[in-house]
Amino acid sequence: ARKKLNKLKKTAAVTKDGTAITLLANIELPEDCESAMESGANGVGLFRSEFLFMGRDARIPTEDEQFEQYKKAVVAMKGRPVTIRTLDIGADKPLDQAEHTALNPALGLRAIRYCLAEPQIFLSQLRAILRASAFGKVRILIPMLAHAFEIDQSLAMIEQAKGQLRDAGVKFDANVEVGAMIEIPAAALALPMFVKRMDFLSIGTNDLIQYTLAIDRVDYEVAHLYNPLHPAVLQLIAMTISAGHKAGIDVAVCGEMAGDVKLTRLLLGMGLREFSMHPAQLLSVKQEILNSDLARIVPQTRKVLRSMEPGAIADAVAALQAM
Ligand code: PEP
Ligand code: MG
Repeated sequence: ARKKLNKLKKTAAVTKDGTAITLLANIELPEDCESAMESGANGVGLFRSEFLFMGRDARIPTEDEQFEQYKKAVVAMKGRPVTIRTLDIGADKPLDQAEHTALNPALGLRAIRYCLAEPQIFLSQLRAILRASAFGKVRILIPMLAHAFEIDQSLAMIEQAKGQLRDAGVKFDANVEVGAMIEIPAAALALPMFVKRMDFLSIGTNDLIQYTLAIDRVDYEVAHLYNPLHPAVLQLIAMTISAGHKAGIDVAVCGEMAGDVKLTRLLLGMGLREFSMHPAQLLSVKQEILNSDLARIVPQTRKVLRSMEPGAIADAVAALQAM
């Protein structure tokens, strides 16, 4: 089966009815670009930059160290877009030196909240990312946004970082696109706030599920409650895709759901055209896309979204797969 899948590497991901789908890779380190390219990815949809910061002794990487790593990824992807997510530290991804005693770290000073509280760390990362944008197509992705002021402050700091580089005569792509992770239910319920400020959206289903269902994503005692097919989760995802497209901006899913072949047709039916996943899953998802017919999937997906009954949802999703 692997062999058959490997033949699809150079095949474009197009549905039976001719709709082109973008397949992107999630990476943790620039070295992962090799498997991303191997899998035939159209680019990197999620570079989890916090992995450059984690598991080190006492020091966070300098701007130059970060720049070298981001550049390495950009060069390795040979002109394909590389979406670099700014530091998403905290909760399940602890930064040793940021360790503190929050009772609910998943609800605490993490990700963009941490970056806005540590402007020098954030600015140095932004400068490093912008410098890498001189070597290929880079997009900036901001995690865990919930408030308009967080978006505005993030954009202002990106402008500040650009100003610093300009003053220093350093090259960068002045038109680098900036997007938001939609992974807090409040964000999915306030999409107009995001689409008017952002160039693209990327749905982080891992956290969106965690926060919607109030279950810790790494707590095995509640793992049985972690359900991507909960109707509330499906509504939030579908709303985000529609609102983004209505506003004319790209929407991706970069959480684990994007790499689950059992959910490929459901996401296609919701209108998703950009999937970002672990490179190992990419060819299986592509195969599913090649065998999918949107004309049949879309009405069936509407049935899924109309239902508030878990049993009926499971049946309707199974029927989608069998089409
Ligand atoms: C997510 O939350 O779905 C996501 C893609 O980001 P992470 O898993 O790194 O939190
Ligand atoms: Mg997340």
